[in-house]
Amino acid sequence: MNTRADLPATIYNFSAGPAMLPLEVMQQANAEFLNWQGTGVSVLEISHRSPQFMAMVREAEQDLRDLYRIPDNYHVLFVHGGARHQFSMVPMNLLRNKTTADYLHTGYWSQQAINEAQRYATVNVAMSGEASNYTSLPEPNTWQLDPSAAYVHYTANETVGGLEFDFIPETGEVPLVTDMSSNILSCPLDISRFGLIYACAQKNISSSGLTIVIVRKDLVGQTVVNTPTMFDYRTYAENGSLYNTPANYPLYLSALVFKWLKQQGGLEKVAAQNHEKSSLLYQAIDESNFYHNTVEPRYRSTMNVVFRLPNDDLHPVFLEEASKAGLRHLKGHSAVGGLRASVYNAMPRAGVERLINFMQEFAHKHEQ
Ligand code: PMP
Repeated sequence: MNTRADLPATIYNFSAGPAMLPLEVMQQANAEFLNWQGTGVSVLEISHRSPQFMAMVREAEQDLRDLYRIPDNYHVLFVHGGARHQFSMVPMNLLRNKTTADYLHTGYWSQQAINEAQRYATVNVAMSGEASNYTSLPEPNTWQLDPSAAYVHYTANETVGGLEFDFIPETGEVPLVTDMSSNILSCPLDISRFGLIYACAQKNISSSGLTIVIVRKDLVGQTVVNTPTMFDYRTYAENGSLYNTPANYPLYLSALVFKWLKQQGGLEKVAAQNHEKSSLLYQAIDESNFYHNTVEPRYRSTMNVVFRLPNDDLHPVFLEEASKAGLRHLKGHSAVGGLRASVYNAMPRAGVERLINFMQEFAHKHEQ
C-alpha cells in the first residue's frame, strides 16, 4: 500500500496546480480505492450509470449548492477538460446572436481567455492593468464597459501574477462571467451576481480533467452554429452532467472535498483560515528587506502569494534549500519567474508557518 510512509511527515506542497488536496480526503480515497462503498470494485471501475455513481454525482451537486447557497435558477455542471475549454465554451454559448464581448485584462490568464474569445467574438478590452504591470486594477469608473456586449468576462484570481479582485464588478444587465479556477470555494460568494462561473478542479477542488460550471439557466441553449454537442452547456444541463462518460475520478474526489469543506464549517470558516494564512505570509514579506511583492495590498491574492528575492540568481538556491526543508513546488510561473506559494484551502496553517520560518532563516543567511 502506498501510504507516503517513506516520506518525511512534514512535506508541504505549494504547487499552483495540480495542487495539494486535504490529507483526510487523500486518506479516504486511499482507504476505499479498491472497494468503493462496498461494491467490491474501485470507483474507477464502475459504470457512471450505476445507482451508486449517479447518487454520488447528485450528492456532490447538492453539497456544492449548499456550500455556495446556489439559487435554483442556476445549473451546476460537471464539465470535461480544463478551464481553457471554457475560454471557448463561454463565447460559443453566451454570445447569443451578439458579436462583441467585454473582457477585463488583469494579467496572464485574462490574456489567454481574450486570445481564445477573439476566435468567436469582437473582444472589447474594457479595462487593462497593463500600466501597473498587472499589479493593480484601474478604478471601475474608468472602465469602458459596453452596455450592448454579450457578457463581461474577468479573471477573479490571476494565478500567475498573484492578483485577486476584492469585489464583484458591477455590470448592470450584462451577464458577468468569471474564471475562478484558482479561488473557487475560497470564500462565500453571492452567486446571484453572476451569469456564469467556471473553475478547473485541479487547484481547490480535485484533480485535473474536470471543470465546474455554475450558470444561470436562461443563458443556456443558444449556442453559435456548429457548436459541438460536448461544448454545449445544454448537453450537460439536460443530462445531469452524465450525457457521456464523465471524468469519474476527479468527480469522486470533488465529492469528497465538498464534504470536507462542510466538515470544516463551510466557506465562512474556510475564508477566515485562508485570510489568516495569506496575511501571515504577506506580513513576513513586508517586514523583511529581503522579500518583495509588488501587488497593491488590497488586490493581493489569498491563494497565490508571489514574491521575489533581491537578485534573481538566488531563486534556484532558495528552491533547493526549501525543498530540502520539505517545502516543495515554490517556483513561480515560467512567464514571470520568481517564487510563488500557493496556499489553497487544503494547505494547513502549519505549512505556512514552516515556510515563514524557513524564509526568515534563508534571509538571515543570504542578506548582505
Ligand atoms: N485560468 C486560470 C486562472 C488558471 O490558473 C488556469 C490554470 N493554471 C487556467 C485558467 C487553465 O486551466 P487548465 O489548465 O485547466 O485549462
